[in-house]
Amino acid sequence: MKTIGHLINGAMRTDAERTQDVFNPSTGAAEKQVALASVATVEEAIAAAQAAFPAWRDTPPAKRAQVMYRFKQLLHDNADRICELIGEEHGKIHHDALGELTRGIENVEYACGAPELLKGEHSRNVGPGIDSWSEFQPLGVVAGITPFNFPAMVPLWMYPMAIACGNTFVLKPSERDPTSAMFIAELLHEAGLPAGVLNVVNGDKQAVDTLLTDDRIKAVSFVGSTPIAEYIYGVANANGKRCQALGGAKNHAIVMPDADMDNAVNQLLGAAFGSSGERCMALSVAVAVGDEAAEALVGKLTEAMAPLKVGAFSNSENDFGPVITRAHQDKVNGYISSAEADGATVVVDGRNPQVSGFEDGFYVGATLIDNVKPEMQSYQEEIFGPVLQVMRVNSMEEAMQLINDHEYGNGTCIFTRDGEAARYFSDHIQVGMVGINVPLPVPVSYHSFGGWKRSLFGDLHAYGPDAVRFYTKRKTITQRWPSSGVREGVSFSFPS
Ligand code: NAD
Repeated sequence: MKTIGHLINGAMRTDAERTQDVFNPSTGAAEKQVALASVATVEEAIAAAQAAFPAWRDTPPAKRAQVMYRFKQLLHDNADRICELIGEEHGKIHHDALGELTRGIENVEYACGAPELLKGEHSRNVGPGIDSWSEFQPLGVVAGITPFNFPAMVPLWMYPMAIACGNTFVLKPSERDPTSAMFIAELLHEAGLPAGVLNVVNGDKQAVDTLLTDDRIKAVSFVGSTPIAEYIYGVANANGKRCQALGGAKNHAIVMPDADMDNAVNQLLGAAFGSSGERCMALSVAVAVGDEAAEALVGKLTEAMAPLKVGAFSNSENDFGPVITRAHQDKVNGYISSAEADGATVVVDGRNPQVSGFEDGFYVGATLIDNVKPEMQSYQEEIFGPVLQVMRVNSMEEAMQLINDHEYGNGTCIFTRDGEAARYFSDHIQVGMVGINVPLPVPVSYHSFGGWKRSLFGDLHAYGPDAVRFYTKRKTITQRWPSSGVREGVSFSFPS
């Protein structure tokens, strides 16, 4: 069985004291193994990044950007292979994997603008003969820890910008689907990245804890579930590191009585069931305002869900694939059962779908649950599966209160034709990314991505302009060249 190892100082390594199976979720079979890095292996990767830093820091930003331009082209050239690797280990259908990769490439494009983004600020004559300017200097060695659900895109949120800013990087991808991240890192080397600037270590908690506590790591970017995000943020901060830790979500869509209901239903289907609901921006709760809207919504959703196809990643006619593991399949099924036991109505039941020829795959079919109430476990927790829950309320205020009371605040959306209602909603909702008739309001690469409340620990969001700030530290320089005109005597106070 093939073992996915580590990429340290430009060389692939497969040595491992411990390994873990990597499954093909479409078939349910363990097809590869991933090496789980020891403390010593992670320390070697950090040392390689540390050694590469001085030269990379001093490489002109325009030269660093040239590597990114070549990298972007290689990502396009190898798109089919990358999508296949994502499919084999994550289960994403080709069209969905290509969408993921495209969003990742957009972040590489943004990183190509590093010379412009790092220009800094300059003021002449802030005092007599005194000039002052601010520069954005790289931090040093930066770490990224990423989740399974976007194995190609989320690493690309992080290291292209970190590296373009002059940092060196250690990436720890998800151990559940590590191959596409490794393949993409190799492409970056093919594009001309010097050895040691990007290192990839595979592993579990042991690798992560080493990154969090090593003094040479200056900053940590994390994306994953909220309990782990909170842990990462706490430990990184306690060890003096800058940290941004993006966590889980429960994204609500409000469906107003005046909404274009057919459009809302189409948008909800893609946003709830695309990628098997394993997206941190998945719309997992539809809040219908008024009984008439609720009846229309549930009726139309039920009808539209009938032809949806769950199946193997290799068949592009499928709408979505399996969930990531057998354990996760059980967990998602468990949430459906708990909602039923708590009194909700399972209108479309996706437990145990028949996928002919792939009976051992980790499939959950599209599921619709009506009459969900705030106190139910299935509402309070993130399900992360193809399950859409419907709640019924009497007013927009009531719908907004539900959203604002929820512990997560990643994304949300309102479906309406009323501009005033939409404006009020976007102004007052306690959520970081808001859609108005846009179900997945994922910011483009030149904005930044991040939720509020327990969906993000830290100040700066991921990618875009916030990434430039996150991966650099500001230095402000004030300069005077004494001359006869401005030479001053001793002064014991600020000028007044
Ligand atoms: P996860 O939290 O289980 O794992 C994320 C990373 O943390 C992995 O690299 C994993 O190896 C590591 N990790 C896991 N347990 C750890 C521990 N105890 N100590 C140290 N490190 C540990 O998340 P996942 O299941 O891979 O991904 C799904 C989650 O990620 C969902 O909650 C989803 O909402 C969230 N997510 C959030 C965003 C966002 O932008 N907010 C984006 C994608 C995914």
